[in-house]
Amino acid sequence: MVSSPITDLLKNQLPLEQETLELSENVRYGLVLVDIINGFCTIGAGPLAPAEHNQQMSDMINEAERLARLFCEKKWPIMAFIDSHHPDVPEHPYPPHCLAGSEESNLVSALRWLEEESSVTIRRKDCYDGFIGSIQNDGSNVFVDWVKSNKIESLLVVGVCTDICVLDFVCSTLSAKTRGFLSPLNDVVVYSNGCATFDFPVEVAQTSKHGFAHPQEIMHHMGLYMAKERGAKIVSSVLARGP
Ligand SMILES: [Zn+2]
Repeated sequence: MVSSPITDLLKNQLPLEQETLELSENVRYGLVLVDIINGFCTIGAGPLAPAEHNQQMSDMINEAERLARLFCEKKWPIMAFIDSHHPDVPEHPYPPHCLAGSEESNLVSALRWLEEESSVTIRRKDCYDGFIGSIQNDGSNVFVDWVKSNKIESLLVVGVCTDICVLDFVCSTLSAKTRGFLSPLNDVVVYSNGCATFDFPVEVAQTSKHGFAHPQEIMHHMGLYMAKERGAKIVSSVLARGP
């Protein structure tokens, strides 16, 4: 976290101890990529995309790509959620974004190759929460079926936004796990350096007609903290064992 008086205060009052995840050949993992798409992550790609280079965002993409390549090499399952909206169905309080069929609603260029991978499941969703967004018309849930058919024991979650779509998905998944819908899932792991959120500082928000303050470092920390409150493991590094 970038240091400032406010973030130092936050770290003191809401200390977040992070672990290391060492991937084991004896555990069945699933990787969930949340909304790593142009509309949220590619500079200038839309109303909710970063306007300029953002270190947290580019670190997130690099780590997501590293893990995606590792999982694909091992043929471990990956699920990619992609925000995708019908133009007539707004998602308050945000302006129209990531319309179905638009470039905004595609994986970032560093991850576009995943579309061709057999171990990747892509789920387009028209709401914040990928768990809710996985419910189909017949009542079945694509994400639940993916966990069960792959017998996933440990879920590794990366993507955007730490405090919005990542958090919502983690919260729903942990509640569903408690209710026994996700057996054999044991762990939901959020990788902090594989997550990012957007930056809309209070100074900018006060001069804008649209939106409310959303300082990046604070909201990223809060998102991770709230995920931990629900029972997620928060890790600051993910290490792969050699072959
Ligand atoms: Zn959306």
